[in-house]
Amino acid sequence: MIRINIATLFPEMCEAFLSESIIGRARKSGAVEIGCRNIRSYTLDKHRRVDDKPFGGGTGMVMQAQPIYDCVMSIIGDLGEGAKPRLIYMSPQGRTLTQDIVRELAAEDDLIILCGHYEGVDQRVLDELGFEEISVGDYVVTGGEMPALILTDAVCRLQEGVLPNEDAYSKESHYNGLLEHPQYTRPEEWRGRRVPEVLISGHHANIQKWQDEQSLEVTREKRPDMLSRAEAGAGSSCIS
Ligand code: SAM
Repeated sequence: MIRINIATLFPEMCEAFLSESIIGRARKSGAVEIGCRNIRSYTLDKHRRVDDKPFGGGTGMVMQAQPIYDCVMSIIGDLGEGAKPRLIYMSPQGRTLTQDIVRELAAEDDLIILCGHYEGVDQRVLDELGFEEISVGDYVVTGGEMPALILTDAVCRLQEGVLPNEDAYSKESHYNGLLEHPQYTRPEEWRGRRVPEVLISGHHANIQKWQDEQSLEVTREKRPDMLSRAEAGAGSSCIS
C-alpha cells in the first residue's frame, strides 16, 4: 500500500478534497494512506512565521528552509526504518506530469509531496533534501496544494483496491497513449440524438471493435501529436 504525505501550509484545503469521493473511500478502506502535515507546526519562530522577504529584493515572500526541513524530517522519521520516500516538490519549473510519470510514482512505497506558496521556497532546502520537481503544466497557480492533489489523485487511482478493477483505469485516456472512446448512458435517445446502435446490440466483439476504432478516431481528431508518438513507439499494440 502506498503512503503519501503532503507537506503544506494549508492542510485543511487538502483534507477537504482527500476526504471525498473515490480517494476518501480508498483512505477509509485502507487501500492508500495519505497524511497532510502542517509545515507551520515545525517553525521555531516565536511568532510562528514560516516565510520572509526574498534576498535580492522583489515582491512576495519566500517559504523558509527550517520549517520545511523539520517537517519533512519528521515525516521521514515517522515512516519508520528503511523507508526511502521519493521527495517531490510541486513546481512550475519541474518536468510536466504525464501518465507515465504517474505510473512510475504509483510503484513507489512512499511519496512526500511539498507544496510551495507565495514566491516559492528557499532553494537550499530543495538542494539539501534532494527534491525532484514536478509541474502540472506551463502556468503558475497560487500554491502547490492543487497540483499536489492532482498528483495524489492520479497516483491513487492506480493502486489496488481504489477502483473496482484494472479495466477502470487501464482503458482510460492516456493509459496506453490514446484517448478513450466516447461514453453514453441512458436514455437511448435524448433530444433526437441516439446512442450508437452497436452499443445496445449486446454483441461484445462488435462493441470492442467500435470502441477501439473510436479511440483512434478521437485521438486523431483531438490529439494528433499523441497518435504520432503511439505510431512511432515500439510494439504499439493499442493502434494495431
Ligand atoms: N515564483 C515561482 C516561479 O516563478 O517559479 C512561482 C511560485 S507559485 C506562485 C507558488 C507555488 O505554487 C510554487 O512554489 C509551487 O509549489 C506551486 N505551483 C505553482 N504553479 C505550479 C505548477 N504549474 N505546477 C506545480 N506547482 C505549481
